[in-house]
Amino acid sequence: MRKCIRCGAEMKEDFTFTGGGGNVIRPKGLGLKAVYPKAAVCLHCGEVSIYIGEDDLEKFRK
Ligand SMILES: [Zn+2]
Repeated sequence: MRKCIRCGAEMKEDFTFTGGGGNVIRPKGLGLKAVYPKAAVCLHCGEVSIYIGEDDLEKFRK
């Protein structure tokens, strides 16, 4: 569960970015490893938080 950094409410997770085929996070020095970030939205105040899913984090840790 993600908590909103602004108002402390529970955020709705698993939103995905669409359009353009971009929006990829690819860190320097890790070759072709890249992931699509997700977003969590606070339905109380509208805050949007971008994060990387647990499965994709594993790619970066290797
Ligand atoms: Zn909020």
